[in-house]
Amino acid sequence: MVDKAKIERAVASIIEAIGEDPGRRGLVDTPRRIAEMYAELFSGLEADAKAELAVSFEEGHREMVIIKDIPFYSMCEHHLLPFYGAVHIGYIPGADGRLVGISKLARVVEVFAKRPQLQERMTTQIADTIVEALHADGVAVVIQAEHLCMTMRGIKKPGSNIVTSATRGFFRSRVATRAEFLSLIQGK
Ligand code: ZN
Repeated sequence: MVDKAKIERAVASIIEAIGEDPGRRGLVDTPRRIAEMYAELFSGLEADAKAELAVSFEEGHREMVIIKDIPFYSMCEHHLLPFYGAVHIGYIPGADGRLVGISKLARVVEVFAKRPQLQERMTTQIADTIVEALHADGVAVVIQAEHLCMTMRGIKKPGSNIVTSATRGFFRSRVATRAEFLSLIQGK
């Protein structure tokens, strides 16, 4: 469990350290608000992503399945500032043709997003979880995100995106499969 009292003390210290008055009316409840918020933003640390895919159904479907534009909000672990955007997932069911509901995949994204995170790591974690839980023949994950630690500080233009991808199985070994996935996620 998140230690909210400890977060409150730490945030009060930061407010003081930047030369502000933690007792000022607008700031007096800020440590408590941030503690509540962090408990929610980092709730994925206690969750098991693989368990979210435990309920799958056998359809005998062996073709590519694509889920586009799953929105997410995460916190960059280097600066504890948000990065957010969309996740696109493609998978090819394994020999048992197992499928999962879209809400389950969205939940996997959320479990990994609600942690101190790196976009690159989140991309591979989602791909590996789907491969392992569904015994899929192939998985591809693409994440597009804006990082406030870059755009707020003027290193990158606002709105510029970082794109990461991870491929497993057929998406890695078959160029045509990867190309099909990429063209399908780009089509609007
Ligand atoms: Zn950062």
